[in-house]
Amino acid sequence: MTLSDAQRRVDAWISQFEEGYFDPLTNMTRLAEEVGELAREVNHRFGQKTKKPGEAEGDMGMEMADILFVLICMANREGIDLEDSFARMMAKVEGRDAKRWTRKRE
Ligand SMILES: [Mg+2]
Repeated sequence: MTLSDAQRRVDAWISQFEEGYFDPLTNMTRLAEEVGELAREVNHRFGQKTKKPGEAEGDMGMEMADILFVLICMANREGIDLEDSFARMMAKVEGRDAKRWTRKRE
């Protein structure tokens, strides 16, 4: 699935409902919530704040997907093509950081 496919799938889902997309400030708050949920999982796995006894193991992938869903909602609402934005961002990183890191030997 490409980012464009994901944007179309989210739009098909949201477009079924009268409420439509949340406004930008609500989505920004939702994004912060979801980042917090991912942070909680990372902290439980790698940090010092371990889970309470009996607390179920979370799913980092699902938390990342929650973040992506909110980002896609924000992009769709603003008419942003994430496929294009991601390609431009990667081109920037690949140019800027081409000599920054130690290359693996072939
Ligand atoms: Mg979540």
